[in-house]
Amino acid sequence: MSRGADRGREWRMPFQYEGLPGTVWFGRGERRRAGEALERLEVRRAMVLSGPRQAGLAGEIANGLPDAALYAGAAMHTPVAVTRDCLEAVTAAAADGILSIGGGSAIGLGKAVAVRTGLPHLVVPTTFAGSEMTPILGETEGGIKTTRRSPAILPAMVIYDPDLLASLPPAVAGPSAMNAMAHAVEALYAEAANPLISLLAEESIRAMGQALPGFLQDAGATAPWEEGFYAAWLAGICLGSVGMALHHKLCHTLGGAFGLPHADLHCLILPYAAAYNREAAPGAMARIAQALGVADAPAGLYALMQRAATRRSLKAFGLSEADLDTAAEMAVQSPYYNPRPVTREGVRAMLQVAYEGGAP
Ligand code: NAD
Repeated sequence: MSRGADRGREWRMPFQYEGLPGTVWFGRGERRRAGEALERLEVRRAMVLSGPRQAGLAGEIANGLPDAALYAGAAMHTPVAVTRDCLEAVTAAAADGILSIGGGSAIGLGKAVAVRTGLPHLVVPTTFAGSEMTPILGETEGGIKTTRRSPAILPAMVIYDPDLLASLPPAVAGPSAMNAMAHAVEALYAEAANPLISLLAEESIRAMGQALPGFLQDAGATAPWEEGFYAAWLAGICLGSVGMALHHKLCHTLGGAFGLPHADLHCLILPYAAAYNREAAPGAMARIAQALGVADAPAGLYALMQRAATRRSLKAFGLSEADLDTAAEMAVQSPYYNPRPVTREGVRAMLQVAYEGGAP
């Protein structure tokens, strides 16, 4: 059976689907049930992990538990040196479970510790990054980031409490929301696309598209955090279930080579990566456009990027045009699936538009 672009879908027969295990509790104030969740995981003494900026929140949650230790040293890109330091703290505290609180950085540390120790892992996310839903771990050592996938990396339980997002400034919330949207967009044209994940992806794009303007305009307690977190949860499942394509690989390459911030980079690149695949993935484009209520998917994503981003061009990230040559070269070094073949010239041309920040 061919790709059914006319019906607005990209998945093909025959398809495969493998469900990921895990338990999710979702709702305002649910973070207060962290103790109950840990009991369910038979954890008596949790090691509570966070980054330095979420240490206060992590401390509050740790104080609500009968017995817990705290480690607030998580850092971006999960440096192995931090993981080793944290493992020592886990041993010293005789912890029998991990509770990580924060964005992708804290969750990455939680995964790195859990996969090395076999301890059960509960996550309380505070951004839209979606790592809590994936069996994927990226770690850095000696300036090199390696990514691996294993069922043992997937957290056992996740508590989504939308109240925790109220402290997100628009400059973090906007790019983080677009980071989530990128997972859903690429799931629609993934090599392993399947009908169930495509449904989640389309619903995720719809929900995030509706929520995003709300929390950019009016961050704080009354913003549509619930809708945004719901979208991010679905996007996380998409990321964990089907392989990604050009957008994610390119962000990985650019982020690693030039040390660019994760969510901001995803936010900028998404409309350009979608435009790269515009003709090659018509079914996915139709579903994205429908979910956003626009005529053209990349144009709709570009409009959202313009609202969400703090940096609206690769130039604003401090890159030079010579860097674009390097990035295009790196992008074709290890082949991977993408609806449209990934060529050096094609990627270079795409990066030029992103460099100038023009419409894709
Ligand atoms: P992050 O965890 O570094 O958080 C970004 C910033 O937001 C930090 O300064 C943090 O202190 C702050 N912050 C977090 N929550 C906040 C809140 N509620 N209120 C106010 N400030 C808050 O970044 P991220 O974008 O969440 O995650 C990026 C990292 O996660 C990268 O290392 C990326 O590779 C990884 N990631 C991994 C996966 C996976 O599946 N393995 C998926 C997505 C992201």
